[in-house]
Amino acid sequence: MSIDIALAGALHVQYLYKQELGGSEHLHHVLFQTSTVDALLEGKYDGDMSFAELKDLGDFGLGTLDALDGEMIALDGEFFQVRADGRAYAIPGTSRTPFAVVTFFEPGVSRELSAPTDFEALRAILDVLLGGDACHAVRVDGHFGYVRTRSVPRQKKPYPPLAEVVQDQPTFEFADVSGSLVGFRFPGYSQGLNVAGYHLHFIDSDRSLGGHVLDFRLDSGELHVDGEGDLRLELPPGVDLPVPDTTAAKKETLDSIEGG
Ligand code: ZN
Repeated sequence: MSIDIALAGALHVQYLYKQELGGSEHLHHVLFQTSTVDALLEGKYDGDMSFAELKDLGDFGLGTLDALDGEMIALDGEFFQVRADGRAYAIPGTSRTPFAVVTFFEPGVSRELSAPTDFEALRAILDVLLGGDACHAVRVDGHFGYVRTRSVPRQKKPYPPLAEVVQDQPTFEFADVSGSLVGFRFPGYSQGLNVAGYHLHFIDSDRSLGGHVLDFRLDSGELHVDGEGDLRLELPPGVDLPVPDTTAAKKETLDSIEGG
C-alpha cells in the first residue's frame, strides 16, 4: 500500500476495520467514504459494503451501486438509485456499493438563492463562502428551470474502465422541476481519493428522477453547507490509497468523466 503522509494528514484520514464501522454513536461532521475514485476509474465496480451498513454512517451523500449500476443519491436518510433510464428507485439494504461518500448532514451555513443560478455561478458562490481547503457537504433545495444529468448502465465483467463507460452514458434533461442537489466539494489535494472540486447529484422532490449533475439552472432555492472535520475511509480488498497525481492529464480524464 502506498501512503502519502501529507495527504493522509491533511484529510485526517482514519482507517477502519469492518467491525469498527457503524455502531450506535452518531458521527458529527465526519465524512465516510468507501473505496476511492481512482479504484472506480480502474473499473473496480464490485460492491463491497451493503447499504444497510452505509445507512449507519450517514443520511446524505452520493456514489454508485454494484457493477456500476447507476448513480446513488442519499437524502434525508433515504437511498436512491438512478438507473440508466433516468428514473429513481429505492435501494434495498441488501444491495452493495463499490464507492460511496456519506455524512450525517448538519448544515452550519445556509443561504437564500433568490437569483437564477447555474452550476458555474453556484461554484463561484461556494468558493467565496467556503474559502480554504476543507471538505464540505452541499445541499440545494429549490425549483429548477432545467437540470441536465447522466447515469451509467450496469456493467458486465470484465469491467471496462470508467472513461470507456461514460463515452456512451445516457443523459437526461428535466425542465421546470423542483428537487435537491446533493454533493460535496473536495479540496485539490484529495484528487484520486475523491473528485477534487464539486460533485453533485440531483433528485426531484417526488423522488422519481435524477442523476449525476452535468448542468442546471436554479430559479430560486436554499443552499445549505456542512463543513466536514474528518474523513473516514474504508478501503475494500484490493484497493490502495491513490498515489497523488495532480498532472493536467489526470485532471483532464476526471473532467471528462465528471463533466466538470
Ligand atoms: Zn456522480
